[in-house]
Amino acid sequence: MRTSRTEPPPDAAERRRAPPVTVYAVDELPAYDAAFYEAVRGDMALVSELVVPPRDARAFTVPAGHLFRIASIEGPQVGDLNIWNAHDLSERFFSGKTRALHATHVSTGDRLWSTLPHLRPLATITHDTLDWYGWDEDGAGVHDVIGTRCDPYTNFLLKGTEYHHCCHSNLTRALTTERGLSIEDAELHVHDVLNVFMCTGFRRDTHQYFMKASPVRPGDFLEFFAEIDLLCALSACPGGDCGAGHSDDVSPCYPLKVEIYRTGKDLGEWRSPRPSMYSRDHGRGD
Ligand SMILES: [Zn+2]
Repeated sequence: MRTSRTEPPPDAAERRRAPPVTVYAVDELPAYDAAFYEAVRGDMALVSELVVPPRDARAFTVPAGHLFRIASIEGPQVGDLNIWNAHDLSERFFSGKTRALHATHVSTGDRLWSTLPHLRPLATITHDTLDWYGWDEDGAGVHDVIGTRCDPYTNFLLKGTEYHHCCHSNLTRALTTERGLSIEDAELHVHDVLNVFMCTGFRRDTHQYFMKASPVRPGDFLEFFAEIDLLCALSACPGGDCGAGHSDDVSPCYPLKVEIYRTGKDLGEWRSPRPSMYSRDHGRGD
């Protein structure tokens, strides 16, 4: 617990009573078009699938207008997902802005936004078999965009030991294999993840980040619609269901399955979202 060293001002209570204001007026964004996405997913045909081995990662591509699912098989397992524009790795998933626009945890109807200067939906979540979970009594939810990804640097900082199968390293190796990059170059493209199936929150007493055993079970899946051509990488976290630890070989770990689908529905007027139309002037003309 933090102890305050500063005497509260006389109007402390009044200052604390300022009403919370939602930072972003996301209600003003085009609403999730449930009818469109339900029609798209109502006529799905499996195109390909792959299995991500435990404590490892695999990369895969998803063409714009296709769907993909990340599915639990064999046992409860958390997955760390990276997403890039398949044609430009500098445009990638923006975990922080996705959190600020939607919430600490994402579900059906939420979009996964890309980094500046692009800021457009890379993917839209179209189905979530864990949406029943909501917020539990600890304040935790599922599919986290508040954590980052387990990595060997933080592990070394805290334990002084090397571990090479953290999600950060798994994603790095997967991108190396997919794109023929060096480990050093690939690592620079790995970014904060969507923690698929991960159940997390902030402790009410200290506001520290906590995790608890994921409620995911075999058969559960999270489904996405690819808004642009995507390159993705998914790591089956060494933490398994993240109910105890991570960054070691102790927790039971299971594979994850990725399924890629095309839709039989005519997408009609649908087009990939354009990158932000902001001029990028940044005040240089002032
Ligand atoms: Zn991990």
